[in-house]
Amino acid sequence: MYRGFPLMSRYSIKDIFAQKPLRKKVEIRGWLKTRRDSKDFSFLEINDGSCLANLQIIAPSDLKNYTEIVLRLHTGCSLLIRGIVNESPAKGQEVELLAEELVVYGWSDPDNYPLQKKRHSFEFLRSIAHLRPRTNSIGAIARIRSSLSFGVHKFFQEQGFIHVHTPIITTSDCEGAGEIFKVTAPPKTNKDDLDDLSPDNEFFGKPASLTVSGQLQAEVYALALGRVYTFGPTFRAENSNTSRHLAEFWMVEPEIAFCDLVENRNLAESFLKYLIQYVLEHNQQDLQLFANFIDKELLKKLAAVLKSSFTHITYTEAISILAKSGKVFDFPLRWGADLQAEHERYLCEEVFANPVFVTDYPKEIKPFYMRLNDDGETVAAMDLLLPGIGEIIGGSQREERYDFLVSRMKELNLDLDDYNWYLDLRSFGTVPHSGFGLGFERFLQFVTSMNNIRDVIPFPRTPGSAPY
Ligand code: ATP
Ligand code: MN
Repeated sequence: MYRGFPLMSRYSIKDIFAQKPLRKKVEIRGWLKTRRDSKDFSFLEINDGSCLANLQIIAPSDLKNYTEIVLRLHTGCSLLIRGIVNESPAKGQEVELLAEELVVYGWSDPDNYPLQKKRHSFEFLRSIAHLRPRTNSIGAIARIRSSLSFGVHKFFQEQGFIHVHTPIITTSDCEGAGEIFKVTAPPKTNKDDLDDLSPDNEFFGKPASLTVSGQLQAEVYALALGRVYTFGPTFRAENSNTSRHLAEFWMVEPEIAFCDLVENRNLAESFLKYLIQYVLEHNQQDLQLFANFIDKELLKKLAAVLKSSFTHITYTEAISILAKSGKVFDFPLRWGADLQAEHERYLCEEVFANPVFVTDYPKEIKPFYMRLNDDGETVAAMDLLLPGIGEIIGGSQREERYDFLVSRMKELNLDLDDYNWYLDLRSFGTVPHSGFGLGFERFLQFVTSMNNIRDVIPFPRTPGSAPY
């Protein structure tokens, strides 16, 4: 019989808090957060990453090697501790560990360890991204991220969606925005001439790039399997150094056959609420950290979204509301121009104080694949705007009519030969279909109220910066 991975039989600190194996002898491993000595004991706070809370270890002074080991321990040391679990008399924790044996895996020089007990700025922590997951906040984000990533799969799998792995290297620029990273390799034929980018010399026979979206390929699978989603890394060479943009980020992209914009919008709303509910249920302690130190209103904000019913307005209504607001924006308003972050945030924060779907944008500011509305001017697009974030989701109903799609592609001077496979989907058994993309890091920002997107991804990549 399969007995499970050997590590499963070990207690993590999270297990100890959950199971409270009183009077039992256990073994834990982790890193020292702090040490405090009193007359007969040292108090050690240990964290092993399994949860936010540290386990308090009582190391009695009659422990073997007390002076040689315990009194030399400093923040950052890695340890194994065997001992007995007891009720804790201390406030704020139910159990503690009375150490019987203690082994040091690795020492940590207190004069050089950059993580001192005080609070460090997130900016400083970014400069030590190899050590920052040991801090409470970055550790909590890592756990929330992992949990929500599982939640994403759970939501879609429960609803019968098939997970599709779409390619990372591609030869089609889905958004048509040209913000792409080229993928090059040692030239095939003319090995000496790295600048020779003729098709013969290209590794893939034509210019390739890192994907900006898995949508087009997801559409292929949706038109065979019905409901699919992809969840993977996405790359955009946008030279915008904002707190909402990364050069490498993760996107969740469902694509659904036989689905119009209204159903698409409803799916997005349930998905977002499901994830919020999920994180509230599974990451209470971690969320509380952000509620305590980053945003006092965090839990209220999340509860409000759960209760709300999202607002929907059209782009045209949005422009008219903004124009009538009397508010002066940095970017001028004009029907036909894209909404800027300031407009988006004004709408969902000031005007509605609610998540807002904006639909039916002018076709000129949206990609070629969005379905043309009957007015001939707008497309069946939907962006979801969240207070504090702005755009979190971009989606649309896709153009399923061959002739409409071709004429739009021609208007935009796209090379039809590059997209013959995409057009085939409209020639053979085409169906109305829709989908959207949710920026996973932006959602993490919303859920934690973290101000900078660089702090919700383990190793951020931004213009001029890709260390580690
Ligand atoms: P924005 O206008 O904010 O740059 P976009 O219109 O380029 O967004 P889409 O192409 O619709 O965005 O992508 C879908 C989602 O992916 C967005 O709603 C957003 O949540 C996320 N996203 C887009 N670009 C980035 C980026 N550079 N870094 C992180 N997330 C992003
Ligand atoms: Mn963008």
